[in-house]
Amino acid sequence: MKELVIISGKGGTGKTSFTAALATLASRSAKAVFADCDVDAADLHLIFSPDIRSREFFVSGSEAVIDEAKCVSCGKCAALCRFDAVRRDADDVYRVSGCEGCGVCVSYCPAGAISFPLRRCGEWYVSDTRFGTLVHARLDAEAENSGKLVSLVRREARSRAEEMGADWIIVDGAPGIGCPVIASVTGADVVLAVVEPSLSGKHDLERVMALAKHFKSLLLVAVNKADINPGLTREIEGLCLASGVPVLGSVSYDTSVTAAQVVGKSIIEYEERSAVSESLREIWKRISEETWKR
Ligand code: SF4
Ligand code: SF4
Repeated sequence: MKELVIISGKGGTGKTSFTAALATLASRSAKAVFADCDVDAADLHLIFSPDIRSREFFVSGSEAVIDEAKCVSCGKCAALCRFDAVRRDADDVYRVSGCEGCGVCVSYCPAGAISFPLRRCGEWYVSDTRFGTLVHARLDAEAENSGKLVSLVRREARSRAEEMGADWIIVDGAPGIGCPVIASVTGADVVLAVVEPSLSGKHDLERVMALAKHFKSLLLVAVNKADINPGLTREIEGLCLASGVPVLGSVSYDTSVTAAQVVGKSIIEYEERSAVSESLREIWKRISEETWKR
């Protein structure tokens, strides 16, 4: 079983369209489990149309909650909190906002007025889709720890994949280059970077190269919307060649990709024989070859 993680330096590069197209192709010839690790702005479900089979809370850490009825207004919690998360409001009531979960106030409250329940940060789901099982999630507004949720989604996808003896785990990775994307690629067999021919795209690719090298993952590159800037596409290909990173192919800009998304389909389902679909078919073939020869 191999885990393929599809990433891009930033959102809007076509990563999700790539994932949906590769999912379509993978599901036709192999057993695969899919994971959407873009937990801050998940959108793979718009194409996968998941039928949710199980739903669970994502909890991470604990947070202090003051019971007004027990509080004797000594002010110890506010004085001890080094995150300035306890305030005495205009009604003389002590309230917590922005708790970092250190637990200090809980231990020192003389009235035992502070409880420390687990903090709900989002939900995660296991769903049936026409491509196979999808593990996906949603982080609550203003919740943090998206890196932990990404790790959970990947772990659960792996567990489902092992249960069914899958050949592939295909992951729509988190965008950017921060903690969530690190959580997306750590330990992955193969990382496919979807790059747009722009200066920021090239810069992001350099950082992704460093990341993949650090985690010893096989890095592959595909250039999306390659024809919008042929000069930069050549520069990106040159950068990859100089760094020993295989460029699997390029995909031209085509409004059909968006049209397919609007009706909830991958581009392969929408226009099986278009030039974009042919390019993606070739890229999927190359991914399989590069992965299994490793
Ligand atoms: S330490 Fe406890 S009793 Fe004192 S103000 Fe805070 S919650 Fe109230
Ligand atoms: S648990 Fe820690 S961070 Fe949260 S309110 Fe109490 S002292 Fe502040």
